[in-house]
Amino acid sequence: MKSFLSRRAAETAPYTAGEQPADRQYVKLNTNENPYPPSPKAQAVLRSFDADSLKLYPPLAMRALREAVARAEGVRPENVFCGNGSDEVLALCFPAFFDEGGAGAAFADITYSFYPVFCSFFGVPYTQVPLEEDFTLDLAKLTKTRAQGVLVANPNAPTGIGIPLEEIEAFVRANSGRIVVLDEAYMPFFGQSAVPLVSRYENLLVVKTFSKGYSLAGMRCGYAVGSEALVEGLARCRDCFNSYPVDSLCQAVCAAAIEDASYYAQKNALVISERERLRGELAARGFFVLPSAANFLFARHNTRNGREVYAGLRERGVLVRHFAKPRIEAFCRITVGSREQNDALLAALDGFLKE
Ligand code: PMP
Repeated sequence: MKSFLSRRAAETAPYTAGEQPADRQYVKLNTNENPYPPSPKAQAVLRSFDADSLKLYPPLAMRALREAVARAEGVRPENVFCGNGSDEVLALCFPAFFDEGGAGAAFADITYSFYPVFCSFFGVPYTQVPLEEDFTLDLAKLTKTRAQGVLVANPNAPTGIGIPLEEIEAFVRANSGRIVVLDEAYMPFFGQSAVPLVSRYENLLVVKTFSKGYSLAGMRCGYAVGSEALVEGLARCRDCFNSYPVDSLCQAVCAAAIEDASYYAQKNALVISERERLRGELAARGFFVLPSAANFLFARHNTRNGREVYAGLRERGVLVRHFAKPRIEAFCRITVGSREQNDALLAALDGFLKE
């Protein structure tokens, strides 16, 4: 049968998101969502939202949202770009800052697996720098690449390892001739954001999300903070694709959420303390667990392989993420849930390990 697909569509291997099986109710610890609800102030905005206003297109400049983000981040609204999830913001970085068939992008071999997908989709060649044996990233090796720009997830996914801000600053300085995209999706659980560097380094773009630290994964909103020139470049690419990627309701809810810093500081502190408890509990059950600065743990059991652990937990109603990839197939990535969810995970693990 004749295929009507373009070569690009036919040849692209898309990103695989974490599964959402519907056969039963699972304890869902496979996509790094926040176990706590969105801020009551964000919920109030949602409930009182004027549905009639939906007959109009959303605010084009997203002024109120960008002002709220700017206030929270200590920058100007002109330094803020918002998109439909940080995935979309990251996607737009490729046409905005990388030439098709050019010197390409460089990033770690084990990092957010969407980066190589974006590269192949946008025709950007890429170089992968292997993480060290202990899964840390030697930034000097990334600096040595000849790519047009570099991407670093900090904390990294799926390892959870965080890089201290001083090291990031030295890296941004050492790469002053090219763009550095820092993916800070998990920064609310680490607290060393590079946003304060943006005013001093015009090559730096920091990408963040409402999905993890603001409990709004279902709203789909992410943003980038960078120089006006970088923000302008992203806006150009967005406007070749979709003028209104962030809907009116989402703009209003996210603006209210980011203003409620104290609520989220308290909830994210709970996630961090649960993370440390879970880390100890996993270690006590024979897991080697990487030190995590994120809201998930990357863990390898000393006798059971990653696939077995994943399947054993799934059978018992707990979903975690397993990546059938070189170097990490022995591991599972486990989202830190609420205390109850984590206890359910541990009980399921005990059942599985007894088998
Ligand atoms: N960056 C990293 C490292 C992630 O793990 C994720 C979540 N899958 C994202 C970005 C995208 O998050 P979102 O599109 O929900 O903002």
